[in-house]
Amino acid sequence: MASRTTPPPHFGLVVHQPLGRRHCSACRRGPLPLLVMENGVPRCLDCADLGHLVFLPRGDTALTRRAREESTLSAVVVRFNRRKGRYERQGVLVEEEALSRAEQRCLADAEARRRRRARDARRRAAEDVRFTTAFAAEIRGLYPGCPEERARAIAGHASARGSGRVGRSAAGRALSEGAVISAVVASVRHLDTPYDRLLMSGVPRHEARRRIAAAVETVLRSWQAAGLGSAG
Ligand SMILES: [Zn+2]
Repeated sequence: MASRTTPPPHFGLVVHQPLGRRHCSACRRGPLPLLVMENGVPRCLDCADLGHLVFLPRGDTALTRRAREESTLSAVVVRFNRRKGRYERQGVLVEEEALSRAEQRCLADAEARRRRRARDARRRAAEDVRFTTAFAAEIRGLYPGCPEERARAIAGHASARGSGRVGRSAAGRALSEGAVISAVVASVRHLDTPYDRLLMSGVPRHEARRRIAAAVETVLRSWQAAGLGSAG
């Protein structure tokens, strides 16, 4: 009555995927794709009263755990790996109803995750709008002569998500004066001076910056002065 190989560790009910052609010792059906060893002899699932269970292959841990939780009766399916000399889990047998309840729970989780991602995206979008507005207000505070549209464009550019530009840095987040000035200077450099053309024509970056420094300064001063003029 001893089985040929060491029995698998105790998982509760164990169902085997036999390596050879085995027949049910009770009803003689076979060869059996799945069997239960009872007192050292194989039985088919029907004769072992497990015929109503459905097979869930291994791979989805959450689904497997939930299907077993939902199932009054469940069994672990194992197959002996000759090369490794041990039993390996292939999946579980669970009640069909339990499996569909488990699937619904997993789907509900996926839906909950999807909704949370959507909420997070909306919150980030709102944060971006608030951040851009605050950034634009800081620009207009330092450079009252900077046109409103331009200030918004600079702020939007600076706060573009994941850009690694100044607006997303810690300093930009904090709307520090330094961050605001760098964003404005970068914009003036690119839009109000020949900086980009100089770079394209092969002028080294530092040399290009040197050549346009006065032009940048002129624009910034005019934007600051516009504020002084209106203030007094
Ligand atoms: Zn049988």
